[in-house]
Amino acid sequence: MAKATPDVALRAAPELQPPDVFRLLVDSVTDYAIFMLDPAGLICTWNSGAERMKGYPAKEIIGKHFSVFYTAPDLALDKPNYELKLAMQDGRFEDEGWRVRKDGSRFWANVVITRICDKQGRHLGFGKITRDLSERRQSELRYRLLIEGVIDYAIFSMDPTGRITSWNVGAERLKGYKAEEIIGKHFSNFYTPEDRASELPRRVLETAAANGHFEGEGWRVRKDGTRFWASVVVTALRDEAGNLYGFSKVTRDNTERKKLMDELQRHSEELELQVREREESNAELESFAYSVSHDLRAPLRAIAGFAQALQEDCAAGLDETGRDYLHEITSATARMNALVQDLLDYGRVSRINMPLESVKLADVVAEAIRQAQQGDDGMLQVDVPSDICIYAQSQVLTQVLLNLLSNAFKFQRKGVKPEVRISAEVKERRVRLSVSDNGIGIAPQHQERIWQVFERLHDRDAFPGTGIGLAIVRRAVTRMHGSCGVESQINKGSTFWIEFPVASEGSLEAKN
Ligand code: ADP
Repeated sequence: MAKATPDVALRAAPELQPPDVFRLLVDSVTDYAIFMLDPAGLICTWNSGAERMKGYPAKEIIGKHFSVFYTAPDLALDKPNYELKLAMQDGRFEDEGWRVRKDGSRFWANVVITRICDKQGRHLGFGKITRDLSERRQSELRYRLLIEGVIDYAIFSMDPTGRITSWNVGAERLKGYKAEEIIGKHFSNFYTPEDRASELPRRVLETAAANGHFEGEGWRVRKDGTRFWASVVVTALRDEAGNLYGFSKVTRDNTERKKLMDELQRHSEELELQVREREESNAELESFAYSVSHDLRAPLRAIAGFAQALQEDCAAGLDETGRDYLHEITSATARMNALVQDLLDYGRVSRINMPLESVKLADVVAEAIRQAQQGDDGMLQVDVPSDICIYAQSQVLTQVLLNLLSNAFKFQRKGVKPEVRISAEVKERRVRLSVSDNGIGIAPQHQERIWQVFERLHDRDAFPGTGIGLAIVRRAVTRMHGSCGVESQINKGSTFWIEFPVASEGSLEAKN
């Protein structure tokens, strides 16, 4: 029966009634030392928890004074009797402190002493319950040491009103206050006057209390008045019953990062501005070039017309030099006409509204070949599946292809039979249309600049041209959401390619 648990004992022996039940209960508790003292402090009962905690078996300790559990310094202060006196006076006394086991080792105890009287109010003695909190104290200590030792973060606690209750070295380092200067003061001391005026500290605590925590960034003030950019987390501290007993606050100095971010922001804004300004001035220049080109057409037509009239009506009256000059005028007019036409085309692909629709690639290729008038002499090989569609503007795409085709036929090597191939390949939902030739090729260092307006690698006598064709290609392809590029080897040939997503359904708007 002595070994049975109280619950089992009750069921097994229903005749058992308190106080037997309570005695069994107390006896079997092993995590708490529960025992009785007589009014003088002599131990009268002993449970298994007491034996486990303090190391004394019952027969050894019963009858002894409970002061054997106290440390020498506590004994010197007469603490055992003082505690009994207070328990006698108030009915209850609670304390935490070091206590001594039989083997002399210490443990951190939570002790509750309760005055016990009978129904008539006669004092019978004291109940004493002791809990071993060594482990908890150890981990609290470790935690405290850890927090206190952190130097990169200010970690401190506050009471529910925001008054500071603890302070680590990180806080001292970051904010400049020593613990004794700041403990008891309100944490709003760290805020700027503007933030204090707008009651930010109050809102921080309210948010933390309502949501469990508050996170934010902002300028805070050190003891010496200097400011730093703080990244802050405030956490509400609640006891097991959910009552708010304070807040913890962790602050990190992010001034360097903030400076860097501000600098980056400033740079990117500057860059954006520069890009915007460049785009604006480019657009202005383009529209200027467009209107100039447009206005040049009429006088140009007049020059060409009169040169032709001169040729037809007055050629007989001119000597050879005069006829040479006339020839120069006519060919210069033709060149200028081509230049004006290309500039106008470039301006047009830049500014026209370009609604994209699904177009069959093979159709566009056939139209470009037709316009290039190069198809019948057998030098051109076409390898474009008839079922591929892309989103594009069909006339603009034709113009793009025409430019690539005429370049492929133009930049040929002397004495080499020209071979040009148009092919299409689909990879990962993108179509690459390539125009390859076996011509003069382009050195790697020039392969980027040829896409700019007026960039040409040869003089007019070797290869005629305006230097605008590839600029039109790039601008048009970009506006149709595509990309373009070149692979080339000098004296071997070039492959110019354009790439677009494969079309499924519907239509798209072109990029501006
Ligand atoms: P254009 O053909 O009027 O000179 P483009 O803008 O079309 O102007 O081409 C720019 C330059 O790129 C050409 O002058 C030429 O030097 C080079 N280029 C273009 N296509 C080829 C090609 N297929 N083979 C070799 N060089 C080429």
